[in-house]
Amino acid sequence: MTRALYPGTFDPITNGHLDIIRRGAQLFEAVDVVVAVNTRKTSLFSIEERVDMVRACTRDLPGVTVISHAGLMVECLRERKAQVLLRGLRAVSDFEHEFQMALMNKKLDPSCETMYLMPSEQYTYLASSLVRELAALGADISEFVPPEIETILRRKLGGKSSS
Ligand code: ADP
Repeated sequence: MTRALYPGTFDPITNGHLDIIRRGAQLFEAVDVVVAVNTRKTSLFSIEERVDMVRACTRDLPGVTVISHAGLMVECLRERKAQVLLRGLRAVSDFEHEFQMALMNKKLDPSCETMYLMPSEQYTYLASSLVRELAALGADISEFVPPEIETILRRKLGGKSSS
């Protein structure tokens, strides 16, 4: 059985992430979405909030499990008996960092394979950071995140409306 891990910060989960999760679930028998405790980024939402949000958006997807992880992704790969790290590659700007990470993970564990999916066209420019910024400025984000995430984000940011 091929199990893939889809690691990320998911601060918050967007329709772009969900597109990758849905397509990953068609390709692999199991997909574990790994909400990472990211030491490089300060996140708007706590790890528990991020896990809850991803769970709420993926509960109807067969084969998809949501977990959190604080250490190396290759350790998580071993713990979950997974073979593949799944990532999304939006633009050339993503490439350099992804290239480095894939090679470093391979160095740490030669059996680790990283596979990339291109986003569906309408999500190419979509990023959690942009969604947070738009929401903070009161813009309409309904195209970019599921309705429950929009509600949670607005509540977190103090209830600014899009009108
Ligand atoms: P990270 O901090 O690990 O990049 P993110 O939550 O920002 O975490 O992203 C997790 C993964 O999802 C990354 O591989 C990223 O490239 C991918 N991703 C983010 N947004 C999109 C999108 N709009 N379309 C496709 N993939 C995306």
